[in-house]
Amino acid sequence: MQQFTVIGAGLVGVCCALHLQREGFTVRLVDKGAPGMKASFGNSGSFGTASCVPFALPGVLRKVPKMLLDPTSPLKLRWGHVPKALPFFLRLVAASRPSRVEEIARARNALLVHTHAGYAPLIEGADAGQWVSDDGLLMTFESEAAFANAAYALDLRRRNGVHMDILDGNEARQIEPALSKKVIKAVSLPDVHRTIDPWRLCDALARDFVRRGGEIVAAEVKGFEIGADGPNRIVTGRGPLDVDRLVIAAGVWSRPLAAELGTSVPLEAERGYHVMFGPQEFGLKRALVSADRSVSLAHMHEGIRATGVAEFAGPDAPPDMRIADRVMRHARELVPGLKGEAASKWMGPRPSHPDSKPVIGRSPRHRNVYFAFGHDHLGLTMAGITGKLVAELATGKPTTVDLEPFRPDRF
Ligand SMILES: Cc1cc2nc3c(=O)[nH]c(=O)nc-3n(C[C@H](O)[C@H](O)[C@H](O)COP(=O)(O)OP(=O)(O)OC[C@H]3O[C@@H](n4cnc5c(N)ncnc54)[C@H](O)[C@@H]3O)c2cc1C
Repeated sequence: MQQFTVIGAGLVGVCCALHLQREGFTVRLVDKGAPGMKASFGNSGSFGTASCVPFALPGVLRKVPKMLLDPTSPLKLRWGHVPKALPFFLRLVAASRPSRVEEIARARNALLVHTHAGYAPLIEGADAGQWVSDDGLLMTFESEAAFANAAYALDLRRRNGVHMDILDGNEARQIEPALSKKVIKAVSLPDVHRTIDPWRLCDALARDFVRRGGEIVAAEVKGFEIGADGPNRIVTGRGPLDVDRLVIAAGVWSRPLAAELGTSVPLEAERGYHVMFGPQEFGLKRALVSADRSVSLAHMHEGIRATGVAEFAGPDAPPDMRIADRVMRHARELVPGLKGEAASKWMGPRPSHPDSKPVIGRSPRHRNVYFAFGHDHLGLTMAGITGKLVAELATGKPTTVDLEPFRPDRF
């Protein structure tokens, strides 16, 4: 069976398709829209190699209810979504035990250290180096209390081998003069690289896939026909398609597809927002992450982008752009020189599991199905290594990373 059909042409699906193609498989990508137009379109652009820290840390049980009731908090839950999200939050609390946090951070880090190895051949092959920059990231703090709150997460990074430099406010402003005077401390993470446009990077990779003989089918997958050896046809809005081997890489929409294939996963849409500011009189060299405000800023190809917020709601529920306005206000306080109104606002659903780990592996039910989804805040970062791992599984090679922590049937 030398033919693969990858469902989902976000960054994860495109990287799976390219790595499979490199192993000699004939590959077809199927997406209901154009490549890279969902979560992969408007993210913050950081290759978050320092982001081994999971979403749920010890003490989350105390903090989350308070945050959900606070209208100014960056954590949001639509009340109509509570019954559906409750099992996710219960699992999130279970994942916040110190021993679990250590184990999850190690597992995340095991993928993160291969970010470069996963992407380099794809970016080089697509001649897409123009969309990548290596200027590092600054995490900012506006009070000693905020810095003290981050101690556990910083130590977790340090113990996982992340290189960090602690700066005072003036040192931070020497690197990034546009930063507010309120910033009194910063952590510099020089090894964090980024893309100056995640969508253009995804588009360049998808074009390279086609140039190398890959096919992209614009169709929504609505179901499967299952034969004696697993699914042998996908049912699409444009009619059925015969398939040999399948990869489910449909971001947050992988949940219903996996369920139809007999695997239940607690995948939720953790929706983030962005605001694009038009041209400014200054630039930002580093990506910025504010610990106090839970917003990130980065200089993109078309201007400065501010991102933030974790809103739990259905992936296709209409966005609430008042949330984007909150992101905009905080961005202006962190970087007071930001001028003008938002040129555009956007919402995208991070595909998140409660234990902050993706699912990467073979379907427990069907030998011809592979899963690659649930990369939460790190889908841009982990897409390259995820594709490499799926291609290794497909060829039967030993995998670069132990896939036990990412098993689809771990929940
Ligand atoms: C505000 C924000 C900031 C972020 N910042 C970062 C960051 O700095 N670094 C980082 O690493 N990550 C970041 N992320 C996370 C990252 O964007 C996601 O993890 C990543 O884009 C997920 O990629 P994906 O390919 O799994 O999903 P998606 O990009 O959502 O792609 C899924 C694709 O599947 C298709 N699809 C779905 N269902 C079907 C179907 N039934 N039939 C056919 N096609 C289907 C969709 O059309 C879509 O194209 C951020 C996310 C947000 C929202």
